[in-house]
Amino acid sequence: MIVVMKPDATEAQISHVREHIASLGLQPQVIVGEHQTVIAAIGQERPGLVEALEPAEGVVKVLPIMAPYKRASSELKTERTVVRARSLEVGGKRIGVIAGPCSVESEEQIVSIARKLKQLGATGLRGGAYKPRTSPYSFQGHKVDGLKMLATARDETGLAIVTEVMAPEHVPVVAEYADVLQIGARNMQNYQLLQAVGDSGKPAFLKRGMSATMEEFLLAAEYILDRGNENVMLCERGIRAFEDHTRFTLPLASVPYLQSKTHLPVVVDPSHGTGKAALVPAMARAAIAAGADGLMVEVHDDPEHAMSDGAQTITPDAFARMMAECRRVAEAVDRSL
Ligand code: PEP
Ligand code: MN
Repeated sequence: MIVVMKPDATEAQISHVREHIASLGLQPQVIVGEHQTVIAAIGQERPGLVEALEPAEGVVKVLPIMAPYKRASSELKTERTVVRARSLEVGGKRIGVIAGPCSVESEEQIVSIARKLKQLGATGLRGGAYKPRTSPYSFQGHKVDGLKMLATARDETGLAIVTEVMAPEHVPVVAEYADVLQIGARNMQNYQLLQAVGDSGKPAFLKRGMSATMEEFLLAAEYILDRGNENVMLCERGIRAFEDHTRFTLPLASVPYLQSKTHLPVVVDPSHGTGKAALVPAMARAAIAAGADGLMVEVHDDPEHAMSDGAQTITPDAFARMMAECRRVAEAVDRSL
């Protein structure tokens, strides 16, 4: 429910409604807007709630939130959310670019690539320390040592660190080193992990599950928001379809669709979305043209010898060209990069 207050509603009237909502077993959330205050009543909607809330003084009207994802819905919050973490800003006019290798391989590797990426305009540094690999025999990441390497790269460049956390029990250690906690596609519906990331208070980077619907994706975000953590970025990274010329199928219609349903910023990952380095720059340009608030791109000095995802990883030179092209597209859609 959304309780819309009169523009001249008093503090006392607002508190009264807030308390009434709580007494009905719902969670009140006061949203102070420029012109008026609205109070969200989050929880299971049931008959009789409108009638219970509408008569209070200072109330204009009570509206149901139609979407099942209440806190993520743009019905609740029309203003767009901007997520900030050090150098990274996603959701504002400037498009955030999170770039880096699939895996953190060594301190030299991550520091050297971070310097280049920063110089080329990246605003966040990615790199996996805990890697969700399809095969248990593939490289699983350097774990805590990898996190320390990322922290060194941040100290050297100031770039915000975006790295994946795979298990709820790892959230404290990953949060100690990272600026943004990534939840991977394979974990999008790991509800305990979503709650633990929500509780960490760190900005979250939630990747779409490869067979998740938009509604499931937004309900996953809702788990993080429901823990009081409002800094959630959504990342379209491609889905499973019958097509096999690309690793996944990257549906860019998700960008404007999500932006019509939620206030959360939307990022596109053309690396996992295509699985092919040659296709990455064009899909990055297309993502920006579609209105994406950010990009996540895998970049490595020597993709051929990368410890994971080399086939979809571009070189710093290709990244530099991609950034120049993306800047022109960004300008055409009133954004900057
Ligand atoms: C990654 O970002 O390296 C990754 C594993 O991505 P996804 O969860 O989208 O497969
Ligand atoms: Mn990868």
